[in-house]
Amino acid sequence: MMEARQVALESRSPQRPDDLVVEFEETSPEGVAAAAGRARSAAGGWAASSALERSVALERAADALAGAHAEVAGLMVREVGKPVTEAVAEVTRGVGILRYYAQQALDPDGETYPGPSPAGLLLARRRPRGVAGLITPWNFPVAIPLWKAAPALAFGNAVLLKPSPEATGLALRLAELLAPALPEGLFQVVPGGAGTGEALVDRVDCLSFTGSVAVGRQVAVAATERGIPSQAEMGGLNASVVLPDADPERAATVIAGAAMGYAGQKCTATSRAIVVGDPGPFTEALVAAVQGLPVGEPAEEATVVGPVITEQARQRVLEAAEEAAAAGGRLLTGGKAGDGPGWFVAPTLVDGLGPDARLAQEEVFGPIAVVLAVPDTDQAVSVANGVAYGLVGSVFTRDLDRALGLAARLDTGMIRVNAPTTGVDFHAPFGGEKGSSFGPREQGNAARELYTSTRTITMLGQEG
Ligand code: NAD
Repeated sequence: MMEARQVALESRSPQRPDDLVVEFEETSPEGVAAAAGRARSAAGGWAASSALERSVALERAADALAGAHAEVAGLMVREVGKPVTEAVAEVTRGVGILRYYAQQALDPDGETYPGPSPAGLLLARRRPRGVAGLITPWNFPVAIPLWKAAPALAFGNAVLLKPSPEATGLALRLAELLAPALPEGLFQVVPGGAGTGEALVDRVDCLSFTGSVAVGRQVAVAATERGIPSQAEMGGLNASVVLPDADPERAATVIAGAAMGYAGQKCTATSRAIVVGDPGPFTEALVAAVQGLPVGEPAEEATVVGPVITEQARQRVLEAAEEAAAAGGRLLTGGKAGDGPGWFVAPTLVDGLGPDARLAQEEVFGPIAVVLAVPDTDQAVSVANGVAYGLVGSVFTRDLDRALGLAARLDTGMIRVNAPTTGVDFHAPFGGEKGSSFGPREQGNAARELYTSTRTITMLGQEG
């Protein structure tokens, strides 16, 4: 038999590409199978343990992460170039997610229904699926793995995490921190790229994916072919609709941060500002707000816009700006690479394009956004909805009626009024419509749907 080929991968700091964070071997299909075997052995005992034991273990895991807070935030800054204030907030959120699901482990685990007789019982009880496979991106390297792993563990599953190669250092550190709180083999990281991800789908009992649309669809098809439940959270092309009564400066400040913060590398980033009526005052305020955002070294407290993740990612932003200009768009600011060795690119704004232009239709995943002017609210709705994605939308207005009216017509999984499209509440359902999501929602109580199935139990008394 031929030896399985081991592929060496590495993760480098985007602000200092000569800084090698971690070098690792891709987990082979045999390695994934062995990890799945260990996870399956651990899952049996874990599912049989009491809910209180699982809750206490997750609390201990939260304590371990809280104890390493500054170190993990520092590693996040280094490995994925996240500005330090956001990195610190993400670790805090990770701790919060673990504590929240530690409590959910103790919540009711099913429902009762009217039974066949007054003494009989009819119950639908939740039970774990077994081994949960998680495939995650690099952009929220603590929050996303944990908002999947914490409910999976709380409800009695084992977890195999296949992180993005660009965030492998953080995933391995998370595993080290969580290990002492959990039975051996219950939470394992299988580092690697696409091949490892594909092997993972073949070995698990349910699958949760976050990443691009192309990969998410492929993963969901593979999971369905195996007959296992899956969920995929994918890209976005999120719009903020600015109505004529909104304060243009306030809206511009919020939208600038949502479009360009962390160099626009959030699935919830604003990539389209749709302005109803005269776009002049808002556009002017947006350009000023974007130009005022501190760009630079992510380890500095003031930085809002750090580098993008790789050289290719920077190239995509520069090409999108060039293509938009060639298509008749006006480059309002940006469009240039930053100085120095890191993958910096200036926050870029474009207007003068129609809603069918590529920049207004396809996710770039970087610090670039387009301003689209429309004459009325109906047009705003049709432009906002006229894309293949539907993750989140926001509306800026002082008029409650108009806010509610628009919110009801936007075809997105989440709507935010006078708020940035970015920002996630881990105790509420999270997910999108159309190309942005597949399968049940994640986070909050909704996470139960993927990580458990119900068993309906009928009990009759001997005497009726
Ligand atoms: P990606 O799709 O390239 O990779 C995501 C994960 O899938 C990685 O772990 C990758 O190694 C793995 N993968 C790649 N090919 C695979 C295959 N054939 N089979 C199995 N796994 C495979 O995405 P990315 O570049 O890491 O992240 C950016 C994307 O993620 C953007 O599109 C962004 O919008 C999206 N995203 C979505 C959400 C959300 O919740 N909706 C959150 C964050 C990021």
